[in-house]
Amino acid sequence: MLLDQQSASFALVVEDIHKSFGTLEVLKGVSLAAQNQDVIAILGASGSGKSTFLRCINLLEVPDRGRVRIKGELVEMRERKGPRDAANPKQVERLRARLSMVFQQFNLWAHMTVLENVIEAPLHVLKLDKKTATLRAEEMLEKVGLTSKLHAYPAQLSGGQQQRVAIARALAMEPDVLLFDEPTSALDPEMVGEVLKVMRDLAKEGRTMLVVTHEMGFAREVASKVMFLHKGKTEEEGKPTEMFTKPQTIRFQQFLSSTL
Ligand code: ADP
Ligand code: MG
Repeated sequence: MLLDQQSASFALVVEDIHKSFGTLEVLKGVSLAAQNQDVIAILGASGSGKSTFLRCINLLEVPDRGRVRIKGELVEMRERKGPRDAANPKQVERLRARLSMVFQQFNLWAHMTVLENVIEAPLHVLKLDKKTATLRAEEMLEKVGLTSKLHAYPAQLSGGQQQRVAIARALAMEPDVLLFDEPTSALDPEMVGEVLKVMRDLAKEGRTMLVVTHEMGFAREVASKVMFLHKGKTEEEGKPTEMFTKPQTIRFQQFLSSTL
């Protein structure tokens, strides 16, 4: 495993990610560096490549070019002899443990209870014993306020509760970085607040997070850095206080006025 001293002080360094689907060039060299405890809000119009960027970081998609380092450790993205779009299977397992993702559509297993959803990966990926995994899951479910729902099935929960289960499931892997892809976009408006509150609490605890979001209030108040993607490139990035008060590019200005 290659360890780069300079990037070892960062939780996550992503360099020059390129990704095309056929002739459609979706990411044209996107980079990011997250220090421990950074909360990076990733903003951009629909279709700008935000989801593809997150998916390339945790190998749900294999980037055409670019590098990812977690705590300085280089991730071998591709299987050397395999097909071009096949991810390195050993790395995928390791990555899923170090970078946990929360999706817009929750992606809970419908046939499993809340508790079973949360212990599944710790049992099978981290190989924890059932007692340890259960204790950890109960602790995470308490953190997201769902102690009373351990034995419920996803269909019996509201959208906000399901998303909080998905967050507990991500936390149970004790990842280095949490990735969120529009975690509140599929929710009824009255449930957005309870999920954002959990995310604010995680930020306060010092978790390192990348958050794709359209919640400008969250980006402004919680993020330590903001990056604005436009057509597969970083158009503008910086501290939220500066970016929201003095946007530097016309495109980010236009984006901000479109979200008002
Ligand atoms: P965002 O999350 O910013 O809305 P996406 O990353 O989902 O953007 O998509 C960026 C572009 O890539 C869109 O034009 C989308 O249609 C295209 N795209 C995403 N995933 C695929 C895929 N698996 N195959 C083909 N095109 C895709
Ligand atoms: Mg998306």
